[in-house]
Amino acid sequence: MAKVYYTSARVVDFDYHMSLPAKLEELLQQIGLNSFIEAGDYVAVKMHLGSQGAFRTVRPVFIRKIVEAVRAAGGQPFITDTVRIPGLEYLDVANANGLNHLSVGAPVILADGIFGKDVVNVPAGELLGEIGVASAVYEAQAMVVVSHCKGHIGAGYGGAIKNLGMGGIGAKNKDGKPERGRMHFAQGTHLEWEQGSCDLCGKCVSTCPHQAINFDDGQLFLDRERCVKCARCARVCSSGALVAPISEEVFQRSLAESAKAVISTFKSGKILYINFVLDVQPECDCMPLADVPVVQDQGILASKDMVAVEMATLDMIGKAHYLPDSKGEENRTKEGHIFTKITGKDPYQHVRAAAGLGLGETGYELVEVKRKSGNWENPYEQQHACDRIPLKEKGHGWSR
Ligand code: SF4
Ligand code: SF4
Repeated sequence: MAKVYYTSARVVDFDYHMSLPAKLEELLQQIGLNSFIEAGDYVAVKMHLGSQGAFRTVRPVFIRKIVEAVRAAGGQPFITDTVRIPGLEYLDVANANGLNHLSVGAPVILADGIFGKDVVNVPAGELLGEIGVASAVYEAQAMVVVSHCKGHIGAGYGGAIKNLGMGGIGAKNKDGKPERGRMHFAQGTHLEWEQGSCDLCGKCVSTCPHQAINFDDGQLFLDRERCVKCARCARVCSSGALVAPISEEVFQRSLAESAKAVISTFKSGKILYINFVLDVQPECDCMPLADVPVVQDQGILASKDMVAVEMATLDMIGKAHYLPDSKGEENRTKEGHIFTKITGKDPYQHVRAAAGLGLGETGYELVEVKRKSGNWENPYEQQHACDRIPLKEKGHGWSR
């Protein structure tokens, strides 16, 4: 069985070492990043940078710890994601969410370039054929896949597989046609609009980050040159007038195929998966908002096996208590996993599909990481050593 390392978000003692950033340091140390990073490797730290209203992506303090660990192992880290909203605007969003070179200690770049077309075609599978992997991910020698775990309208759950399967793919192909969006729609289809159900609320227009939808005299007009098939507009259309036609099964299998294509561009053993089970909100970080978390923060899980870490994450979320005044509690009486209750989708489907493609094991051994006594200095004490000088020596006029 694959090992999945875990550290809890709970604090049981009043000490820096009990904090989650400190526990992440310990977890990274015990995994040993130099077991998959070689000196000089360019290491993609693949994450979702959030969106204007979705502020619950992984916090900079954790990303900085990962960057420091990658550097300590001899790697050259860069933080990366692919174009979701237009490239420069997406970098502004990252900055607003606190993710920039100064905060995390490494460059924050777009893996598919600022226009989202910088891709390398890679064989994917029977559903997708080939898919355009973002070039900076394709070229990197190693990768840390940092995933904020949450719900997802299409897959029930968004974690590491979705982070790679969607986020490792360019927004467009080299001809400027939607590439990642091919997974949101059945092959050869596009948005369907039913005029009779449309109440002209305008939410689709204001949600589209690419200004691809307009209304004129009650008629919807779609600019197919601008549209990247992200399906946000269909998500916000509460009347069902706007639809992205695809089956759940095809979408989930496509995600697994696409993730396989991304992984295939790395040598074996060069990827580490870190799942943050914090702020487990019901929607993807692409959406223009973030609802309150549906379960309590659980902690951080990490493994070199993508399927195992996803299984462990889903099992953990499934067993967690629902938080009051959340979508978790609102849907408590429905059947199944909490993400099934909320989204109506089976969150394990794409994980099982990934296992079927040979991307990992569904069985796992959960290894709780605890501090090994005596081998770990408190970095806070090191950074603030000057505070141990009696304060009167620094001119405060009193000492402690
Ligand atoms: S969101 Fe739906 S109902 Fe509202 S304007 Fe768009 S298509 Fe019509
Ligand atoms: S799918 Fe909808 S929201 Fe996304 S780019 Fe196309 S029109 Fe805009």
